[in-house]
Amino acid sequence: MSQDVIVIGSGIGGLTAAALLARYGKRVLVCESHGIAGGAAHSFSRRGFKFDSGPSFYCGLGKSRPSLNPLRQVLDVLGESLATVPYDPLGHYHFPEGIFAVHSDAQRYREAVAQITPQGAKELAKFEQRLLPLYEALKDIPTIALRADWQLIPVLIGDYLPSLLKMLPQLGIIQGSVGAIMDKEVRDPWVRRLIDLECFLLSGMKAEGTIAPEVAFMLGERSRAGVEYPVGGSGAIVNALVRGLRGWGGQLRLNAHVDQILVESGKAVGVRLRNGEIIKAAVVISNATIWDTFVGTNQNPPLLRPQNLSQSYRQSALETPAVESFMHLHLGIRAEGLEQLTGHHVVVQDTNQDLTEPGNTCMISIPSVWDATLAPEGHHVVHAYTLEPHQGWQRDEGYEHKKKVRSQPLLLALERVIPDIRKRIVLELIGTPLTHAHYLRRYRGTYGPAIAAGKGMFPGTQTPISGLYRVGDSTMPGIGVPAVAASGILCANTLVSPRQTAELL
Ligand SMILES: Cc1cc2nc3c(=O)[nH]c(=O)nc-3n(C[C@H](O)[C@H](O)[C@H](O)COP(=O)(O)OP(=O)(O)OC[C@H]3O[C@@H](n4cnc5c(N)ncnc54)[C@H](O)[C@@H]3O)c2cc1C
Repeated sequence: MSQDVIVIGSGIGGLTAAALLARYGKRVLVCESHGIAGGAAHSFSRRGFKFDSGPSFYCGLGKSRPSLNPLRQVLDVLGESLATVPYDPLGHYHFPEGIFAVHSDAQRYREAVAQITPQGAKELAKFEQRLLPLYEALKDIPTIALRADWQLIPVLIGDYLPSLLKMLPQLGIIQGSVGAIMDKEVRDPWVRRLIDLECFLLSGMKAEGTIAPEVAFMLGERSRAGVEYPVGGSGAIVNALVRGLRGWGGQLRLNAHVDQILVESGKAVGVRLRNGEIIKAAVVISNATIWDTFVGTNQNPPLLRPQNLSQSYRQSALETPAVESFMHLHLGIRAEGLEQLTGHHVVVQDTNQDLTEPGNTCMISIPSVWDATLAPEGHHVVHAYTLEPHQGWQRDEGYEHKKKVRSQPLLLALERVIPDIRKRIVLELIGTPLTHAHYLRRYRGTYGPAIAAGKGMFPGTQTPISGLYRVGDSTMPGIGVPAVAASGILCANTLVSPRQTAELL
């Protein structure tokens, strides 16, 4: 049977668009290549340990309202809920000279900075004062009401005029870089490094490359709503979206790799799966990355074959800069004596090296401190990761040895948090950029586009092919679970009338 909409990929962006379109009454089919839904946010289990493959930092997912998290807004209209565990501090940053506890509450955060550098704390306050009006202007416009075409304008003017007016004085910084604001307000080298680190954790780029609204939102929202972890891990979020999709009549097919987007007379008309099956639909939405959709690799042609796309558009997709991939370490460890352990840590190994240098900044998440069901009794699950270029990795005779060598910075970082970690390990899985590219079906295992502030904008949901749309972290507004959920909303709402959206809300 033909569908109204086929979504290629069940990442958070794809599932959000699909579930919302099902909620609008469309016949929707999601084709997912992998055997587990969720893309970068999928959970997987080994020997009783349940691991997050990627995200573990969340805000605004639980019961408190209003929630500004676009994902929560979609779950609300689907009628789905999530159990969450709030926690504070949200993490510990381990610098070579000491440990900094990061509190969600802005006041407590500044007080902790003041203990290290009183002058830096004053400069940080000024920096925040420059950014927070942007958050104040943006926060009253719910993402769920937005769309990505001209019909947005009457919606904004009709329903959100006061917020638009609040935004006017902020127009100068709305596409500007955090680095420019930091350069104006912050001299203190410790605080500058802190801001660079927070930006890097958010966008994969330091302050200079990160856009101001991203950090404004992060600072404002984590202070207002706090941070929390979903019980069951990132897979619980994926399950809630899949339940919502199916509950509203949509379908998800796993192990259904799409080989090609079919185009007739310049219009997308469906997809061909790797097994040769053809499925027709009036609309096709690609949740694959911009490179997988338009460019391809030596092993895989692009989903949209070159003959269906102008050479210049394909070239501009190819030239989109990409953040590197990752080394991952997923561990099961014995937990005895670790009663005081906290869940999030970022270890910067060497202050004289750049934060973005592979192995220098290591992210650590131990979610079983919040949700004990993720590990067998008396154990913890650990996920540590750091940037690693895809280039140079191949599955040859040296692969296993290189895996061991390149995962050492992660173990060294973990030793800063759990000194005897090596003796505690009962399960060790090392992931390389090849693993990341394979399981997440992502071009060169990239984290996403490295579109620096002032150097371009994330592309929108529309494509040059009629009936073909895109969602996910290589579309507006960018990388991260809330952002890709927003991309799904923008796409789904664009495919229905403003009246249908108004009725839904
Ligand atoms: C290590 C790591 C940590 C992160 N931490 C956080 C965090 O703490 N907080 C946060 O907010 N964000 C975090 N992120 C970012 C966030 O997880 C991603 O930006 C987001 O999940 C990407 O979603 P997406 O919709 O773009 O799609 P993806 O997750 O890329 O999913 C795309 C899906 O499409 C499928 N697919 C691709 N090609 C095909 C095909 N041809 N046929 C069928 N299916 C196909 C893939 O299998 C995949 O399931 C993290 C990311 C990583 C990698």
